[in-house]
Amino acid sequence: MKGLILPRGLLSTQIPAARRALLEWFRRSARPLPWRHHPSPYEVWVSEVMLQQTQVATVVPYYKRFLQAFPTLEDLARAPLERVLRVWSGMGYYRRARNLHRGAQTALERFGGSFPADYHQARSLAGVGDYTARAVLSIAYNQPYGVLDGNVARVIARLGAIPGNSGQPEVRRAVEGVLGQLLSPRRPGDFNQAMMELGQTICLPRSPRCPACPLRKWCRALRQGRAEAYPEPKPRRPTERHHLAAGIIRHGGLVALVRGLDDGLLLDLWNFPSAFGSSRAQATRKLREKLASLARGSVRLGEPIGEVRHSITFRSIRVHLIPTEVSDGAGSLRWFSISRLRGAAVSKLARKIVERLQEVPFS
Ligand code: SF4
Repeated sequence: MKGLILPRGLLSTQIPAARRALLEWFRRSARPLPWRHHPSPYEVWVSEVMLQQTQVATVVPYYKRFLQAFPTLEDLARAPLERVLRVWSGMGYYRRARNLHRGAQTALERFGGSFPADYHQARSLAGVGDYTARAVLSIAYNQPYGVLDGNVARVIARLGAIPGNSGQPEVRRAVEGVLGQLLSPRRPGDFNQAMMELGQTICLPRSPRCPACPLRKWCRALRQGRAEAYPEPKPRRPTERHHLAAGIIRHGGLVALVRGLDDGLLLDLWNFPSAFGSSRAQATRKLREKLASLARGSVRLGEPIGEVRHSITFRSIRVHLIPTEVSDGAGSLRWFSISRLRGAAVSKLARKIVERLQEVPFS
């Protein structure tokens, strides 16, 4: 067979047929997601930000709710941050919402209220990295940028039987090389969405559905009978175990919360005042110091009244609930009604603690 051989064996003469098969499959099989009906650049932007760390099925209702609350970029830019965080509440990774809000304000001030069609201008918006800029520019403006997420990288690693894991620079370069060759210059947006859809629905990490795959004719991993062997898994960051002392300051149906957790985590969300430590005693000591700097008056910590377990990325956390009294809370403490926490920008951990508090005696 004649043709330029691309990294790991795909022939350049085969590319147009592979591309056509992929686009035709996407036309027939694409899921009818709410951001796929002639979306505005703003809508594509919101969907891409939401999809970064969250599964499609989870994103759909949040996306609808967000677009209902902020139908245009201008609505988002003019909304108070607190409201944006409330509407985002439940999705996690709140930094995304904060950046989206700041990015919308910049786009309104500097780019006439639209997501810019220029790569460098797009990158100047808060939270818009290379991936998001490429995704929005290709899908919303049909510009020839390839988009490489974990799903697409898996499809390409299998297609070319590329050894190694996606954390290795040479693997990334090889994958980008194949993506650049495969990208449809006429329909880059559809191509990128088709590759992502293929990775999400057919070329699954385990048990890929190869008989239903439009690229099976050209897939080297399938020919080897080793589809699941590519890409190799990345070495995992080991789980770290932590203790967290959470100060429970309560008055009737109210609890006192602060912004942020500790160690720079959950900065945008309200939490029980907390401190990390390598043991319960150390965490409690740090909590006392922290509260002493927050409160104007005296601080009294009681014996723990319970415990909850929580995970944040690689941290596995034992949270000790410490009844706390402060004689005079400083401005950084804010009182929240337990019965009205639902719509507030409160962390999942704080909600979990409140649930636990309903079960334990507390004086
Ligand atoms: S044939 Fe199988 S392994 Fe190859 S790209 Fe398609 S689904 Fe993935």
